Amino acid sequence: MRFSGFRIVAEALKGHTGWRPLWRDPEPQPAYDYVIVGGGGHGLATAYYLASRFGAARIAVLEKGWLGSGNVARNTTIIRSNYLLAGNEPFYEFSMKLWEGLEQDLNFNAMVSQRGIINLFHTDAQRDAFRRRGNAMMLAGAGARLLDADEVRRMAPFLNHDNARFPIRGGLMQPRAGTARHDGVAWGYARAAARLGVDLIQNCEVTGFRIDNGRLRGVETTRGSIAAGTVGVAVAGSSSRVMAQAGLRLPIESHVLQAFVTEGLKPTIPGVITFGAGHFYISQSDKGGLVFGGDIDGYNSYAQRGGLPVVEDVAEGGMALMPVIGRARLLRMWGGVVDMSMDGSPIIDRTPVDGLYLNGGWCYGGFKATPASGYAFAHLLATGEPHETARAYRLDRFARGYVIDERGAGAQPNLH
Ligand SMILES: Cc1cc2nc3c(=O)[nH]c(=O)nc-3n(C[C@H](O)[C@H](O)[C@H](O)COP(=O)(O)OP(=O)(O)OC[C@H]3O[C@@H](n4cnc5c(N)ncnc54)[C@H](O)[C@@H]3O)c2cc1C
Repeated sequence: MRFSGFRIVAEALKGHTGWRPLWRDPEPQPAYDYVIVGGGGHGLATAYYLASRFGAARIAVLEKGWLGSGNVARNTTIIRSNYLLAGNEPFYEFSMKLWEGLEQDLNFNAMVSQRGIINLFHTDAQRDAFRRRGNAMMLAGAGARLLDADEVRRMAPFLNHDNARFPIRGGLMQPRAGTARHDGVAWGYARAAARLGVDLIQNCEVTGFRIDNGRLRGVETTRGSIAAGTVGVAVAGSSSRVMAQAGLRLPIESHVLQAFVTEGLKPTIPGVITFGAGHFYISQSDKGGLVFGGDIDGYNSYAQRGGLPVVEDVAEGGMALMPVIGRARLLRMWGGVVDMSMDGSPIIDRTPVDGLYLNGGWCYGGFKATPASGYAFAHLLATGEPHETARAYRLDRFARGYVIDERGAGAQPNLH
């Protein structure tokens, strides 16, 4: 069924009796050409682009829980392409371009909203760094505007502009950045992939890999063995655990990142705002809730819940940037397990096991990458060659010294 305005009117007249499930619930087949492990945003996008752009058939996505149970529906929904380094910026800009046409492509309302992002700066040195980043963005066609203090004050009068310790001197704005409804993105990709014949198999955990003389033959799952010539793993925070089943040790640590949502308020915040003097960022959902977050918890964990020290830290950041937030009541908070790589950048590459591929290391920023990551991973799986925007995301770059350290924090996954 295609979605359209006419369809909504027709269904309203019929008492909404014609809507069908968004995807089938198939039994796993004994063999596929492509198996994607992980039914998050990246796994679902990979399956969709494999089928739609590379004409691949016999594809299965294996998900241990339900589709969208992981970080794809736990993130704070920010999409942007405001990167500095040559290894990153073209990739994230490719992703932004895919976001811009995504809803038409998928025939699904993922509530992509280009409401803009402002990264605030509070010192002259920060202004210089953001000017440089803005130049890199403009060279990649991503667009950028350097705002002075008055412009930020006009756009966001509710911020604490004259805080003696952290005065707001201006901001770097990417007008094309914004937000998207995170679980809607998973549902949109799932529905579109299923329409192209992809088997989406839920409650199917991959528990091992069948490897013969360095060649992958298939996967073991809680629903039986499945043979496959090509397997792509896109399990985000579980990357190190899943790849360990193939005998691989990854340059990735898993950490918890928390998100917070307040009660619904009248429209206040025009776009996404990040605090330059601490780790805090905020936007407002279409339902009115203030959506915000900050640092990762900073210790290794596979638990999808965080600790109170970060709650306090995030609350302090919010109060310093926007004291009025102290009046809002927190409605919900949760944690997700993020796959922090050693340089803060992702991996989309083949592995030493022939036929086994890895998509991971997304840290706390992989939601915005979902379309490009899926496209680039599908390109790699289908052609054996990396996509032109993802050439730098090699697994061996840490051993070879070609790190992509956007933040300049060194080999400290908890600091990226
Ligand atoms: C609180 C929070 C806020 C964030 N905010 C942002 C943001 O604003 N912008 C942004 O760009 N990014 C953000 N991120 C990061 C982003 O959400 C992730 O980088 C991205 O979602 C990871 O890719 P994914 O969607 O494929 O992961 P997931 O949705 O986690 O998908 C991985 C899937 O693999 C499945 N799986 C694991 N093990 C197995 C197995 N053995 N067999 C089968 N399936 C398995 C899991 O159940 C899961 O569904 C945030 C993350 C968190 C936690």
